[in-house]
Amino acid sequence: MTTQLKNYIGGAWAAAETATYESVINPATCATLAQVPDSSAGDVDRAVAAARAGFAEWRSTPVLSRAQYMYRLKNLLEDRFEDLAQTIVEENGKTIDEARGEVRRGIESVDYATHVPSLMRGYKVEDISSGIDETAERQPLGVFAAITPFNFPLMVPLWFLPVAITCGNTYIIKPSPQTPISMNTLFELLDELDLPEGVVNLVHGGKDAANAIMEHPDVTGVSFVGSTPVAKIIYETCAKHGKRVQAQGGAKNYIAVMPDADINASVSNIIGSAFGCAGQRCLAGSVVVAVGDAYEPLKAELLKRSATLRLGYGLEETTQVGTVISAQARERIEKMIADGVAEGARAVLDGRDAKVEGYDAGTFVGPTILDGVQPEMHIAQEEVFGPVLSLMHVPDFDSAIDVINRSRYGNAASLFTQNGGHAREFKYRVQAGNIGINVGVAAATASFPFGGQKESFFGDLHGQGPDSIEFFTDRKVLIERWY
Ligand code: NAD
Repeated sequence: MTTQLKNYIGGAWAAAETATYESVINPATCATLAQVPDSSAGDVDRAVAAARAGFAEWRSTPVLSRAQYMYRLKNLLEDRFEDLAQTIVEENGKTIDEARGEVRRGIESVDYATHVPSLMRGYKVEDISSGIDETAERQPLGVFAAITPFNFPLMVPLWFLPVAITCGNTYIIKPSPQTPISMNTLFELLDELDLPEGVVNLVHGGKDAANAIMEHPDVTGVSFVGSTPVAKIIYETCAKHGKRVQAQGGAKNYIAVMPDADINASVSNIIGSAFGCAGQRCLAGSVVVAVGDAYEPLKAELLKRSATLRLGYGLEETTQVGTVISAQARERIEKMIADGVAEGARAVLDGRDAKVEGYDAGTFVGPTILDGVQPEMHIAQEEVFGPVLSLMHVPDFDSAIDVINRSRYGNAASLFTQNGGHAREFKYRVQAGNIGINVGVAAATASFPFGGQKESFFGDLHGQGPDSIEFFTDRKVLIERWY
C-alpha cells in the first residue's frame, strides 16, 4: 500500500477527513508514488482556524526573528537540494537539471524573504500640518493561501509562502493533486523550523478544497497560479467573497526572429524555451515568428537540432526532454497536433507516438514542429502546454508585432535581433508581462514582479518582488498630535 499523504495543520501532520484519495503517478515509470487526499471543506476549516489562531503571536514576533526562520529554511533547502530535485522529477517528469533549476529558483525566493525587515518599512512626514506628524506603516493582514499548479510543484508555492509569513501573515498551501509530494517534503523542513503553531499549513485536494479556501470568511487573500479558465473562476470567486486576489493564468508565448539575429544562439534559446520542461512552462515559447529572410535558415537549424534531442526518464542525466504530466495530457497534446495538421499546418517534426526503451508506459511526447502555421489557426491561439512549436513566416517586424498582439494571452514574448531599435520597439509595443531580448525564457527573478497581461493575469499586484510586499501587507496611516 502506498503512502497516504497527510495534511499539515496547526504544527502537526493530520490525516484528511475524506474517503477519497487519488494516486500520484510517476509519469515516466507509471509507478504509483503516493495517494493524495481530496480534502474536505472541514479540513480547510481546521487549517484556517489554526492559521487564524496563530496570527496574533506570529504577527508580534519581531520581524528580524521572522526573517531568521528564512535563513534557516534556506539552509535546510540547500541540505536537501538533490532530494527535492529528485522528488520533483519523480512526480512531474521533468529532467533532473530542470528540477535542480526549480529548486534553485525556489531558494532564491526564500533569500528574498530574508530582506522583508527592510522591504516592509513604512514612511513618515513630520509637520504635515502644524505640530502634526503623519505615518504610513505596513501591517500583515491575517490568513493568506495559495492554490498552485503541477508544473513547478516546489518553486511556485515558494513565490508566496516565504514573503507572506515573513511579513507576519499565516499561510495555507493547496498544491496540485498531480504533484503534491514536493510540498510534503517542504513541510517536513518547515516542521524542523519549529515555527509557532498555525503559521504554515498544508491542505491537499482539488476543486472542493480550493472553493472552501476562497469562500472562507477568515481567509484574507489568495494567490493562484494555473490555467486561464481556472484563474478566471478564482478571480471572480475571491472578489465575490471580498478577498485580495492575484491569479496568474495560462500563456501562448511568441518568439520573433529577425533576419539580423544570430541564428545559432537564437536556436539554442528557442529549443530550450519550447522543449525545456517538455513545454510545460508558463513561459514556454510556443510560436516562432520568423521575419523575412530569417525563415529558411532558422527552420533548417531548428529542425536539425530539435530532431536530436534525447527523450527519456528525467532521473537519467543524459535525458534532454522528459515526459508530459499524464496520459490525459499526452492525449490532449497529440490531438492539438492532429488538429493543427487538419487545419493546414505541416508536422515537419512529429513527436506523436514517441516511445522510450525501458519506459513503455511513460507519457512521452517528442519535440514537435508545425510549419506553415497561420494566426487564425487554433494551434496558434490556444495554449498547448507540451513540446510543440509552431512556426510562422511574416514579411516584416510590424507584422510580427501585429501577430503577437492578436493573442488573447500576454505572459511572455521574445525577440531575437542585433538591432537595438527593434528591441526597444518590441519592448514598447508588445502586450506581454515578460519580454525577452535574445532570451528565450524571460523569467523574472525573485526580486522582480512576475505576472502576465491580458488573459494571462487577473489582478493588479503580481507575484514576487515589491508587488508581493504590497500584496501581503496593508498600509495603515497614523496622524498624531501631542499636547
Ligand atoms: P490548473 O488550472 O488545472 O490547476 C491549478 C490549481 O487549481 C490546482 O491546484 C488545481 O487543483 C486547482 N483547480 C483546478 N480546477 C479548479 C476549479 N475549478 N476551481 C478551483 N480550483 C481548481 O493548472 P495546471 O494544469 O495544474 O497547471 C498548468 C497551467 O498553469 C498552465 O495553463 C500554465 O500556463 C499555468 N501556469 C501559469 C503560470 C504563471 O505564472 N502565469 C505559472 C505556472 C503555470
